[in-house]
Amino acid sequence: MSSVRIGFVSLVGAGPGDPEVLTRKALARLRRADLVLYDALVDPRVLTLGRRARRFFVGKRAGRHALSQEAIHALMIRAATRGHRVVRLKGGDPFVFGRGGEEALALQQAGVPFEVVPGVTSVVAAPSSAGIPLTHRGLSAAFFVVSGHDRQLFSDALGALTPNQITLVILMGFARRVSLAAELMEKGWRAKTPAAIVSDGTNPSAAVWRGTLGDLAAGRMHARTEAPAVIVVGEVAALDVKTTVLQEPACDEAPRARRSTR
Ligand code: SAH
Repeated sequence: MSSVRIGFVSLVGAGPGDPEVLTRKALARLRRADLVLYDALVDPRVLTLGRRARRFFVGKRAGRHALSQEAIHALMIRAATRGHRVVRLKGGDPFVFGRGGEEALALQQAGVPFEVVPGVTSVVAAPSSAGIPLTHRGLSAAFFVVSGHDRQLFSDALGALTPNQITLVILMGFARRVSLAAELMEKGWRAKTPAAIVSDGTNPSAAVWRGTLGDLAAGRMHARTEAPAVIVVGEVAALDVKTTVLQEPACDEAPRARRSTR
């Protein structure tokens, strides 16, 4: 084998927060990384798994980007060209509202070898960890994911949907929840449609609010939170089917005998 080390970039999904929801592949990449470039939503407990790597925050804090998108591309390309194993770590899945696609294309264009390591997206993980199944027989046969960040893009995306038929999952919409709910009602979604907001899903600090679309539009959900939050609209938002086992041991602590029976 050649002793020349070829640099490589792994675009890695860090999952929704809980380090136990990290994939084994993500863990393996973190453990052998030389450099980890991470975003704001990456949980600190996940970050420390890359013990031997240098770590740089390149995300957005208090609305401001630490680095421009182009600067992130340049940093990844330079480090890989110098032979480093780079992990570009993003919350959830790298290709869900994370600009991961742009980063992959920039690496491709620069001829830098890279891979994508999928992550568990908060789209699904936040609701399911809060006891909300996004599909449920008899209630909803589909779910639709949309960003609430941009008014026009939200409106355009929703225009294609028949109201009150399927589950709606809104990311990046917490701050604009009142106007988003009002817009849905204008488009024909019923005021009594159940709605839920899951913040910090999968984390010990997770919180769930439940009410209706009408409550949201009327500003009856007052919480102020800096935590990331997912809004779920649809009949399934009224379900609460959380696990009843409170103290299940963490995977790594599970007794050996139990693991070997798998
Ligand atoms: N790539 C990410 C999404 C990035 S957009 C993924 O696949 O999960 C950022 C948005 O994700 C936040 O505004 C919030 O809506 C959502 N989000 C991320 N982590 C979350 C969590 N732990 N709980 C609830 N929502 C979360």
